[in-house]
This record gives sequence, C-alpha cells and structure tokens, in this order.
Amino acid sequence: MFACPHCNEKSISLLDKSFMGAFKWTSHECAKCGNKVGFSTFKYCLAMLPFVVSIFLINFKSFLPFPYRFILFIFGITVWLMLVLFWVPLVKK
Ligand SMILES: [Zn+2]
Repeated sequence: MFACPHCNEKSISLLDKSFMGAFKWTSHECAKCGNKVGFSTFKYCLAMLPFVVSIFLINFKSFLPFPYRFILFIFGITVWLMLVLFWVPLVKK
C-alpha cells in the first residue's frame, strides 16, 4: 500500500496505482479522504523513456532477430512499470 499525499493514510493499493495516470482526468480518488491523487507528470514522462527507446530500437534496428526484439519490448514495458510503481511519486491533483 502507498500513502495518500493528502491524508498520509496508506490507502492506495498497487492495483490502484497501476491504473492511475499522470493527468487530472486519470487521477484516483483516495478511499480515506476522497481527494484526487495522481503521478508527478514530469517523472511519469521520464519513466516512459526506457519504453520509448525500446520501441525505437525495435523499429529502427531491424537487424535484431525476432526473439531479441520481443525481449527488448518486454524489458521496456517492465522497466516503465517498475519505475512508475516504485519511483514516480504520488502528488495531489
Ligand atoms: Zn487521502
């Protein structure tokens, strides 16, 4: 569980956080205080970089054989998710 930036209660689950976004319309409502919570937009975009780079490499380095492109894709998504879940801070929206 993660702490809400409004009330500091550990009211946000990993699942809530997985479906949350960086913008106001994708924010999550805290179960304890009802205020809107979301990701820091700047850090959310930074966290997306490894994924964007992996997509770039998959499309432009076509000499990579298929299994490596697939592994790179999975790796990019995994790094993005891990960064979003454990590095991008929750902020008041
Ligand atoms: Zn709260």
